[in-house]
Amino acid sequence: MNPTWINTTIDYLAGIGHIKADVLRTECKIYTYGDLLAYYPFRYIDKTQFVKISEASDLEAMQFKGTLISLKQVGSPKSRGGRLVGTLKDDTGVMELVWFKGIRWVSSQLRQGQTYIVYGKPSQYNRKWSISHPEMEQENVVAKSQLKLQPVYHTGEKLTRKGLNSVGIEKLIQKLLPLVKGNILDPIPENIRKELNLVSKEDAISNIHNPASTEALHYAIQRMKFEELFLLQIELVNSKLSTTKRIKGVVFDDIGDHFTDFYENHLPFELTGAQKRVLKEIRKDVRKGYHMNRLIQGDVGSGKTIVALLSALIAIGNGFQVGFMAPTEILARQHYVTLKKMLEHTQVRVEIWTGSTKTKERKLLAVDLENGDIDILIGTHALIEPKVKFKNIGMAIIDEQHRFGVAQRAKLWKKAPIPPHVLVMTATPIPRTLAMTLYGDLDVSVIDELPPGRKTIKTSWRTDASRIKVFSFVEKEIKKGRQVYIVYPLIEESEVMDYKDLMDGYESVSRRFPLPDYSISIVHGKMKPENKEYEMNLFATGKTQILVSTTVIEVGVDVPNATVMIIESAERFGLSQLHQLRGRVGRGGEQSYCVLMSGHKLSKDSKIRLSTMVETNDGFRIAEVDLNLRGPGDIMGTRQSGVMDLKLADLTKDQDILQQARHQAILLLEEDSEMELEKNKCLKDELKRIAKRKVNWALIS
Ligand code: ADP
Ligand code: MG
Repeated sequence: MNPTWINTTIDYLAGIGHIKADVLRTECKIYTYGDLLAYYPFRYIDKTQFVKISEASDLEAMQFKGTLISLKQVGSPKSRGGRLVGTLKDDTGVMELVWFKGIRWVSSQLRQGQTYIVYGKPSQYNRKWSISHPEMEQENVVAKSQLKLQPVYHTGEKLTRKGLNSVGIEKLIQKLLPLVKGNILDPIPENIRKELNLVSKEDAISNIHNPASTEALHYAIQRMKFEELFLLQIELVNSKLSTTKRIKGVVFDDIGDHFTDFYENHLPFELTGAQKRVLKEIRKDVRKGYHMNRLIQGDVGSGKTIVALLSALIAIGNGFQVGFMAPTEILARQHYVTLKKMLEHTQVRVEIWTGSTKTKERKLLAVDLENGDIDILIGTHALIEPKVKFKNIGMAIIDEQHRFGVAQRAKLWKKAPIPPHVLVMTATPIPRTLAMTLYGDLDVSVIDELPPGRKTIKTSWRTDASRIKVFSFVEKEIKKGRQVYIVYPLIEESEVMDYKDLMDGYESVSRRFPLPDYSISIVHGKMKPENKEYEMNLFATGKTQILVSTTVIEVGVDVPNATVMIIESAERFGLSQLHQLRGRVGRGGEQSYCVLMSGHKLSKDSKIRLSTMVETNDGFRIAEVDLNLRGPGDIMGTRQSGVMDLKLADLTKDQDILQQARHQAILLLEEDSEMELEKNKCLKDELKRIAKRKVNWALIS
């Protein structure tokens, strides 16, 4: 059969018939020979191993070898309860074998005193193991080749009714395999296969459906996982290369005086190694003449702001302006205050433009912005309003990107004849390799080091019963001069219940910490922005000791004197949210604490979330647990279209393979961007085939 067999419709397979073909199409999306071969087993029954009777368990079906020492009929075959009972014995014990149906035929087939290989799922009655309706083979009749890892395929009622239970599907595949033998093309170029010691596709497919050994199966699966991830990466890297090559970027030839002056004279602290490395990566990008689209990932408190500022100074030093967007007004204000302070003794002019900037002020800002008199304009998404016109924006910095989304990023681009370089900062810790996959169009830099001297935040998990103790702890910290956050869930700002919880909480906190010794700020989603800001400011400047709030403080707020974070109903928060919240403390030199308050009755997942928080402060570790709990699609929302066509590979568990696949994809495309070399021909063909199928799919669904 020539290599186009892969597109042959399954109706042509001998013995399939149109009924089976139809049900395979509707139930399994199997249309072609290629689809059928790619219908992989989801597990295997190990028929190469024998379990001793003393080690029987009811977890799964297993295989025993023993002598049939007795066989007798109980009751009459036709009566209720009539059955055939055998006793199987090996050197560790005995078990019962029971048949309720086909008694006459079975008893005519079996001989007492014979050794049998017995397969089935044991269960226990009166402390005795038994298997009903086991599969039985005489030992000397079973050929060596039958002792194998037997594949188990997903099936269902509709399939089973048409004879396509797991064994039925297995039979079809076993019929197809010899037909295509010698003609399974390999999309992974041979040089890569050799380098990584990957088995050929033919080998892999054959061993997945028909494993020669556990080891061979392992290599087969590894190889197919690599293939899936490799094809995915080729696609992603390819689309990124073509966008970056297509889109010209402004060139920042020189590092510039602004940068140098700031770095030498005003830098408030020594940069961490990670900050320096990321800065170098950015520096390299902006002088290439291509458009930069870079994501900086760094855990909360890792110091992304200074990296952003230094990058901005490069742009300014090259005669350009910088737009700096934050997701909320509070955050924009905070960046403004921070940057203004750091740039105090420099010539750089920073301004802020948000939704609540007064009209009169806006007019003045607009003039200065168009003249090029403003170097950095900080704001919320108000920055992408058409009224905001830069003279020459060279860089757009976007903080906490997950709140903006790609569409808004794209709008920002349209602000200049040559689009500004884009630097996106996020504290959402996504395992690096996953980020590479999901943000295929972005380059990713990681700040994986915290500034020195940070003390690990101590996290504990308490129930409401310990509230009195928790409050006395809060009192002690306040007496030391520290400040405290108390956070309530507010998933939907309109949720009446949440609002009530917050207000009840506020009241009980006020009673415990009354004026005039204590003062408390409150911030929630229903407040006007200026009131929020007023209250936040009281807290930020140390005039109030406690901030009671909803999750509006989740991102970015920086109050180094705050050392305690109490999270109420912590079980209702997601892991990454909890981690973000905890990151609000531990920003100064003092020991900080996070207390997770929860009810008693918790789901299994809630328990895992809270205990993970207690166990670790590592954002990437937390992200991995989160990924395991929720799965990648959920975390990324809509970003995953088409990307998640993975059958064997698992983005959470196969990160090593993913990394390898990406590396190889980059090398290949660097050498042969159009995949025109002979060695890459099969790869190109396979990609074409997949793309075509996707189009067909879109038409079908
Ligand atoms: P995030 O990455 O969460 O945005 P920030 O940029 O707000 O973090 O930095 C957190 C705190 O750490 C700030 O108070 C900042 O001044 C401080 N910081 C940042 N980098 C360093 C450093 N290299 N050494 C000491 N402190 C630093
Ligand atoms: Mg920040």
